[in-house]
Amino acid sequence: MKVCVLTLFPELFAPFWDHGIIRRAVQEQKIRPDTINIRDHASGRHRVTDDRPYGGGCGMVMKPEPLAAALKHARKRMPAAMTLLLSPQGKRFDQALAESLATAGELILVCGRYEGVDERFVDRYVDAEVSIGDFVLTGGELGAMVVIDAVARLIPGVLGNEASAGNDTFSDGLVEHAHFTRPPTFNDEPVPDVLLSGNHREIDRWRRETALIRTVLKRPDLLVHRDFTPEERAILLKWRQNIDRLTG
Ligand code: SAM
Repeated sequence: MKVCVLTLFPELFAPFWDHGIIRRAVQEQKIRPDTINIRDHASGRHRVTDDRPYGGGCGMVMKPEPLAAALKHARKRMPAAMTLLLSPQGKRFDQALAESLATAGELILVCGRYEGVDERFVDRYVDAEVSIGDFVLTGGELGAMVVIDAVARLIPGVLGNEASAGNDTFSDGLVEHAHFTRPPTFNDEPVPDVLLSGNHREIDRWRRETALIRTVLKRPDLLVHRDFTPEERAILLKWRQNIDRLTG
């Protein structure tokens, strides 16, 4: 996937591209990153990228011309790319959106700063606004990294073990089962026996059960519209009976 970020702070992305799974994905050309400095596309001796808001008020607004010129430059390299603007006003980014973006071959992410960007740029050039949550950041760069990171790990071959993304929280509408590693006992607490049993059918069953119950406890909102399987119904019933016995 080709990913191009339009930003006033391209240097923030150098360490991002250069660490962990993202670094390997870049090295293996599963991700082909590009960072464009919006200021390079501003005109005039001072290359000004922001100005005072019409109508008054505090803060500055990103001018539309440098943004449009930077985007034009990006689109020359990536003509099929979807253009996303990071914005707290956008569609909330979630795993479903990450999955759908992971199928795009090219992606352009525009990072705002200051009070935001001139609305005419948004109307004319942006395909969608994406928010990483209901809070306001000082700039879109961290949001762009969040989006790229979540999307990158869904691109085939980026994670060492393909199965690990398939079991992740949200992938099946549930949170993931618990993880344990060595030592077998920590602070007097042993690892659940089943995980040491070598019985993979039982381990899978235990994992499905704990994923469901952990979702009930941690994120019941995820279950509101869930079409439970017969196995899941049986698990919930068993837990309800256990709770009834304890409280009865
Ligand atoms: N005045 C804007 C508003 O109230 O909607 C907020 C501007 S914010 C200070 C500057 C930039 O940070 C935005 O243009 C956007 O690119 C980015 N940003 C802030 N919060 C964000 C969020 N929750 N998700 C994605 N990007 C965000």
